[in-house]
Amino acid sequence: MAAQNLDNLRALVTGPVITPVDAGYEEARKVYNFMIDRHPAAIVQCADAVDVAAVVRHAADTGMELAIRGGSHSVPGFGTADGALVADLSGLSAVTVDAPDRTARAGGGVTWGGFNEATGAYGLATTGGVISTTGVGGLTLGGGIGYLARAHGLSCDNLLSAQVVTADGQMVTASQDENPDLFWALRGGGGNFGVVTEFTFRLHPVAEIYGGPMFFELSDGPAVLGYFNEYIRTAPREYGGFPLFQIAPPLPFVPQDRVGEPLVGVVSCWTGSVQDGEKVLQGFRDVATPVAEHVGAMPYPALNSAFDALVPRGLQHYWKAAFVGDLTAEAIGKHMEHGPLLPAVNSTVHLYPINGACHDVASDATAFGHRDASYAVVIAGMWPDPADNQAGIEWVQEYDEAIAPYAQGGMYVNFASADDQWKVAANYGANYARLQEVKHRYDPGNVFHLNQNINPAG
Ligand SMILES: Cc1cc2nc3c(=O)[nH]c(=O)nc-3n(C[C@H](O)[C@H](O)[C@H](O)COP(=O)(O)OP(=O)(O)OC[C@H]3O[C@@H](n4cnc5c(N)ncnc54)[C@H](O)[C@@H]3O)c2cc1C
Repeated sequence: MAAQNLDNLRALVTGPVITPVDAGYEEARKVYNFMIDRHPAAIVQCADAVDVAAVVRHAADTGMELAIRGGSHSVPGFGTADGALVADLSGLSAVTVDAPDRTARAGGGVTWGGFNEATGAYGLATTGGVISTTGVGGLTLGGGIGYLARAHGLSCDNLLSAQVVTADGQMVTASQDENPDLFWALRGGGGNFGVVTEFTFRLHPVAEIYGGPMFFELSDGPAVLGYFNEYIRTAPREYGGFPLFQIAPPLPFVPQDRVGEPLVGVVSCWTGSVQDGEKVLQGFRDVATPVAEHVGAMPYPALNSAFDALVPRGLQHYWKAAFVGDLTAEAIGKHMEHGPLLPAVNSTVHLYPINGACHDVASDATAFGHRDASYAVVIAGMWPDPADNQAGIEWVQEYDEAIAPYAQGGMYVNFASADDQWKVAANYGANYARLQEVKHRYDPGNVFHLNQNINPAG
């Protein structure tokens, strides 16, 4: 019966339908986080929006569970499930730039690497993630935090319109003028409302940036973090960096005898003049002498892929996150206790500032509600060996508990793990009730439920 169902689907789509008996299934079923080991019934590598609509309709008609996958970076592995039908959007990767109009149309499965390469050719960019392999789709729909957020807002703030396949298999446009309630919900509400087959973004002139990582002694950590917190309150919007904890990687700019040591750092991205950028970064050196640094002028896409090698596909992932108003001295003390205990060179803790242009947008103007937070903190537990899972997970959980008293309610949905579903209402705060209304209108049967799920029932 199931096989026959899939034959019906095969006849309707252009892209391959890969099942457990097909060569390539093992590779096709995997997502970025190898802690997720699931066996879907079929993966449809969609070729276009028509394929996506056929897959959504097939799931609705047969009652098969539906998983949507773009860049496949979801830490909880929402892009797959046992026995599910997977719509793999990675083939929808075209990016078309309209340079005079400063807009770009991007396929629903493209990565930030593909997007930045296309827009970077014109010296243009929009806010994206800090690792180039991450998908534009999942990242934008959850909000989208990156180097350009203080200058240009979240990724979702730069979304002008979206082509969407809704739960009933219809193709609709969502924008300020068409289906505005859906457009509102897509900007932060995650994959709850439909499958976006194409995004249209506003672009900004961003060609060369000045920046890169600086690492400092742990003993200088409180001073560096305190300085960052003071600086960022009123920093020019050209500054888009973040503090971090990181085990020193084996890279040429790190002194050989410091490789493998946990350090505190700042990764900077300055979009103004090089001269001004040099002054801004000197501010950090005046606080403490770096152990290692690798800063300079570079094309924006180069910074966006600079740390890709630290997080290759196939690691074990377990993450927690928090929204923070002010990084107080006590909170910094907790970070200094837990940050240096990073379990592997792949693990990291980033404290992303989300003030500046992110605060220009009202909390109820998009589904991303936490516009009063100054930071989105992520404790990104990543390590290669499954044997280290228990210890790694404990580190993340203990760290999260330690900083919780200094955080606001809720967390950024894109940094949440599978065991954070109970926090969904808090993650959306005052916007949750409206999100439930829109969910009820567009997906009353909760076809799109493999996500940080908004309950349509209320
Ligand atoms: C290494 C790494 C680095 C990261 N860096 C950042 C960062 O700098 N900034 C940041 O904000 N986040 C970051 N994230 C978190 C990231 O935003 C989320 O993991 C996001 O879900 C990734 O999107 P994806 O398309 O790659 O994931 P997928 O696993 O493909 O998708 C996750 C879910 O998003 C939804 N979805 C994806 N595409 C679509 C679509 N086209 N239409 C409808 N629904 C869709 C679906 O519900 C899907 O299940 C990072 C994650 C990782 C693992």
